[in-house]
Amino acid sequence: MNGISLKKCPFCSGSAYIIKGHGIYGGIGYQIKCSRCEAVTPIEEAGTQSVVNANGFREINISDVEAIRRLSIRWNTRQPT
Ligand SMILES: [Zn+2]
Repeated sequence: MNGISLKKCPFCSGSAYIIKGHGIYGGIGYQIKCSRCEAVTPIEEAGTQSVVNANGFREINISDVEAIRRLSIRWNTRQPT
């Protein structure tokens, strides 16, 4: 993936890679998986998502690039969710 560098697995130091699959809501989702111990992140969804903020309810569109960027940050910073 362009410009995305993934750190080694936090559990076994194996190399990680991005897999593309189906999101929870039927769209495209991405995960990062360890090639050795098969640790895997939760799915990061691409596509249209509904978000709630102070201004109410609105829809945002997450591009594939954005989904992968978020996912790589999550993996690289070891966030549990
Ligand atoms: Zn691992």
